[in-house]
Amino acid sequence: MKSKSPKVTFSNKAKLPTKYGIFNLVSFKSEEDSKEHLIVYMGELSAKKGVLVRVHSECLTGDVFNSLKCDCGEQLEASLKMISEKQEGVIIYLKQEGRGIGLFNKVNAYALQDQGLDTITANHSLGFETDLRNFDIVTNVVDFLGIESIQLLTNNPEKIKTISNVTGKLNSVQPLRIAPNPHNADYLKTKKTQLNHML
Ligand SMILES: [Zn+2]
Repeated sequence: MKSKSPKVTFSNKAKLPTKYGIFNLVSFKSEEDSKEHLIVYMGELSAKKGVLVRVHSECLTGDVFNSLKCDCGEQLEASLKMISEKQEGVIIYLKQEGRGIGLFNKVNAYALQDQGLDTITANHSLGFETDLRNFDIVTNVVDFLGIESIQLLTNNPEKIKTISNVTGKLNSVQPLRIAPNPHNADYLKTKKTQLNHML
């Protein structure tokens, strides 16, 4: 079952040398909003089956500032490593910070968490749903790269369902095992018990 995918424009392809090797870089944006997303990939993915795919929603604090409040940065790095080892796969980096509530609201949610609320209750008390992310645009990327089927890198059963529904091309799932630390142990426990993450 395919959902309606938005109209999307892709940039030209450029090289991105990283400590994990040389990736290809393409930016893309939907006509529906002004968000500029990113594809970071290795290998010739056209007509390939079981391509490693990480659909990663931006987490500025985790991805850039090495936050220990969540496991986003570690999941991103683990994905880069796995793709580099296989010399094949793609990270679809989506600008939807804080499960879609944006950076400003995320920091307000963190302030509530400082007072003892968990990640979900904090979002709810600011008037947001548990998860506002939208993954329809992933279909555009999968079609753009010509990927035949996906091996999804995730611990999130809801994301497995969503990506399977929007792309119709899910082949298998590869969990990302991240060791908890004292700062994110409660956060990971909430994800496991309330969101059924495979941790
Ligand atoms: Zn995060």
